[in-house]
Amino acid sequence: MKMKKIIVAIDGPASSGKSTTAKQLAKKLNCIYVDSGAMYRAVALFLLQNEIDFDDKKLLRKALLGISIEIVPSRDRSENTIILNGVDVSKKIREPEITNYSSTIAAEGLIRKRMVELQRKMSEKQSIVMDGRDIGTVVFPNADFKFFLVASIEERAKRRWTENQNKGLGKKTLIEIKEELAFRDKRDSTRKIAPLKKAEDAIEIDTTNLSIQQQVNKIFGLIKK
Ligand code: C5P
Repeated sequence: MKMKKIIVAIDGPASSGKSTTAKQLAKKLNCIYVDSGAMYRAVALFLLQNEIDFDDKKLLRKALLGISIEIVPSRDRSENTIILNGVDVSKKIREPEITNYSSTIAAEGLIRKRMVELQRKMSEKQSIVMDGRDIGTVVFPNADFKFFLVASIEERAKRRWTENQNKGLGKKTLIEIKEELAFRDKRDSTRKIAPLKKAEDAIEIDTTNLSIQQQVNKIFGLIKK
């Protein structure tokens, strides 16, 4: 499919199917895919590894200048490798401790400002599908297409539990995962800066009863139209 440069923004709560959908959509549209959550996760990892208290603004400003995050797509674009200051952290940033901490540090304005700068830069020369929480509202308010994915908390917890099992990540029960998701969603949607929310002009898609393929086809169909 040949087309002009486009920006597709996909937002929604945790485990609503954003990343998997965005990745496959990018492949179909022949453009790059950026998981903006991975960037916040990489910052969280950096701050933890270097024992930097993000409440210390002076230190944080300095630290942010020293963080380099590269997102390298695999040859077939099916996966991204996340490189933090030259080191592949793709696996490490999925650990539960980082998942939790990323949502804490994501409420900090200085961190968000830097991430938004980097995210906008990524779209300068190429078409992009980016998923996150504030992509349609803050990062790309003029995106060509905006989608907001939602799903029931039960379904999202089931998805995260299955993902954890497949990746050998932790031994949390379904109930624990459900509580954590609800907690993280609340923190993400009630923070002062760039909270998780549907952009007024975004199309909402409930993925509770949709397979990945159905989600992708639905969004791809809407874009083609
Ligand atoms: O998408 P993912 O669950 O990997 O994101 C991890 C955390 O990063 C989220 O809980 C959220 O707090 C933060 N995030 C954000 N804005 C984005 C993407 C992620 O605040 N655009």
